[in-house]
Parts: sequence; C-alpha cells; structure tokens
Amino acid sequence: MQVPAYVEYEKATSVEHALALLARFGPEARILAGGHSLIPMMKLRLVQPETLIDINGLSELSYITVTGGRLRIGALTRHAQLLDSAAAGEHFAILHDAERVIADPVVRNWGTIGGSLCQADPSEDLSATFAALKATMTIRGPDGVRTVPAREFHTGPYETVVAPGELLTEISIAIRPGGGSAYEKVGRRVGDWPIAAAAVAIWLDGEGGAGGAGGEGGAKITEAGLGLTAVGARHFAAAEAEEFLRGAPATEASLARAGQIAAEHCNPSSDQRGPADYKRHLAGELTTRGLRRALRCARGLTVAGPSAGGRDA
Ligand SMILES: Cc1cc2nc3c(=O)[nH]c(=O)nc-3n(C[C@H](O)[C@H](O)[C@H](O)COP(=O)(O)OP(=O)(O)OC[C@H]3O[C@@H](n4cnc5c(N)ncnc54)[C@H](O)[C@@H]3O)c2cc1C
Repeated sequence: MQVPAYVEYEKATSVEHALALLARFGPEARILAGGHSLIPMMKLRLVQPETLIDINGLSELSYITVTGGRLRIGALTRHAQLLDSAAAGEHFAILHDAERVIADPVVRNWGTIGGSLCQADPSEDLSATFAALKATMTIRGPDGVRTVPAREFHTGPYETVVAPGELLTEISIAIRPGGGSAYEKVGRRVGDWPIAAAAVAIWLDGEGGAGGAGGEGGAKITEAGLGLTAVGARHFAAAEAEEFLRGAPATEASLARAGQIAAEHCNPSSDQRGPADYKRHLAGELTTRGLRRALRCARGLTVAGPSAGGRDA
C-alpha cells in the first residue's frame, strides 16, 4: 500500500482565506483541488508538501458564465461541469470534445480545470485546448490579480507561472463571431492519456461563416489557433501552421498543408505510448481532421464528435 508522508491539512473558506493560508504556510504548502493528480504523486512520494490547503469548499471558484463578451470558467469547475455546460458547448465545441475524452467519469466528476492546468502534465488535454483558444488565465496572489495568456502559463513540464502563494482563479476566452473549433485525440484505450492530440479553433470571414454560402474556396480563414498535446510543441501550440492559415482560403488543400506544417514543427519523443515518428504523423493527421470539423462548425453545419480512442490513425 502506498501511503503519503505526514501532512498538515487546512480547509480554506474563501479565496482570501486560501491566500492567507498560503502566505502563512509558505512555499511547502500546496493547494488541494480534486486531488486526482496531487494525491497519487504524494503516495509515490514524488511530492511531499508540508501542508495541504483544501479549496473544495470555495463555490466562488466554481462557475461557467458568459460576461463581457467572454466565456469565464472558475478554476474549481469540475471537468464534468464543463462537459455539461451548454454555454461552453455553444461557443466552443472544442471544450466538449476535449472533456469527453479526458479520463473517466470518476476523474471528471471531481478533477478540476484549474488542477489540470496547474499540474502542467505535457500530456494533459486542456493545455493545448486553451492554447488554441488563446485563453487568458487569471491568477490571484498577495500582490493582487494578474492575467497571463494561456501560451505563457506553462514554463515547462509540471511547471507554470503560478508562484508559491498564488492561486489560479479563472480561465476566460473571448467570444468572436464566425468561429468553429474541435479536438482530436488518439489514445491507447478509451479514457487514457493521449499518444497525441490536436486542438483547433478557426475563424472565417463574413461570407464563409455561419449563414454564409461557405462552399469550397468561397471563404477565407481570418484567424487560427492550433494546439498540440504530448508531441513536444512549444507552448502547446503549432504557431507556424497558424501563420500559414491566416488569410488562406478555407479549402481542403489549406487544411492538409497546415497539418503537414504542424507535424514538421513539433518535437515528439519516443516512449511507452509510441515512437516519435508515429506521434509526428498523428500530429499532422489530427490537425487536419480537427480543421475539417472546425470548418464545418464555423459554417454552422452539424459536427460529429471527435474520433478518439486510438483507431483509424
Ligand atoms: C486515472 C486518471 C486518468 C487521467 N486521464 C487524463 C486524460 O486522459 N487527460 C487529461 O488531460 N488528464 C487526465 N487525468 C488528469 C486529470 O484531469 C487531473 O488529474 C485532474 O484534473 C487534476 O485536477 P485536480 O483538481 O484533481 O488537481 P489536484 O490533483 O488537486 O492538483 C494538481 C496540482 O495543481 C495544483 N492546483 C490545483 N488547483 C490549483 C489552483 N486553483 N491554483 C493553483 N494551484 C492549483 C495543486 O497544488 C497540484 O500541484 C487523469 C487522471 C487520472 C487519475
């Protein structure tokens, strides 16, 4: 049986209280959200915090709202809540795509969005998702509130810009017309971490967006956000492929070329989930598949769910 080392436990009653506890117990204190990542790491003695500060009672950090033209997700929102949120699905289909393929219902019922992002596992599905959506993270600390773009949030594997004494409180995404998004993941089995995955968000010009004719060649891609999971992409993003798509015609040839560019510029490693060249192939193929679905979504057409589960690639 694996047992964590002795640890003090404190239950925060408000965000201010959590920050006060973080200040009181210093850098050896850790926030406890869903505990699905932290507790197994403590059992394996990979981390040994002196104090756990439990934020599970902080309902003020559990919400999904649309205000000020942005979708706002509180850091303590559970995966299952995001999957169930009509507002999230209406504006960003990718959020439901990604949540549908994260772990299993037990993990999704208690694991949180903030915990996922702060754990900063390179294979974690939401980092690339929020990178594609160019989300903004809100962090509170002793000196006040600061915001950080999603692409500057992670500083390396298992590392983020959230400093000791700080708390991630919100993730927000600007809502813009003419957009479509999708997440494509291949894992070894259902509910597993990805071998590779691609997160895609695109915006079309007026003619090709929802309500427009949108035929092959009839629309331009005005903006693109491409994220890659588990393939060593810098900031979880495929910046060169995004650059290629900006202003490109929304044609199959553009989507295929963007996939090739994404594959060329990622940096996967061989491991127990697969060899590097297979992962690179997946990065390209899944980017193109995601783009196809995001395009249909932007045109207001029905979009089938993601092709997760390790087949067909
Ligand atoms: C069996 C299993 C399968 C999984 N499969 C997948 C998968 O397929 N895809 C995927 O993406 N993920 C997967 N996960 C990971 C899962 O999504 C995360 O473990 C979980 O969401 C982490 O959230 P948590 O609330 O449990 O975080 P915790 O374990 O409580 O915390 C994780 C870390 O974040 C810190 N932290 C938490 N919240 C905050 C905050 N608000 N501010 C500052 N720091 C904070 C903690 O101190 C800790 O260091 C899997 C997990 C398990 C156990």
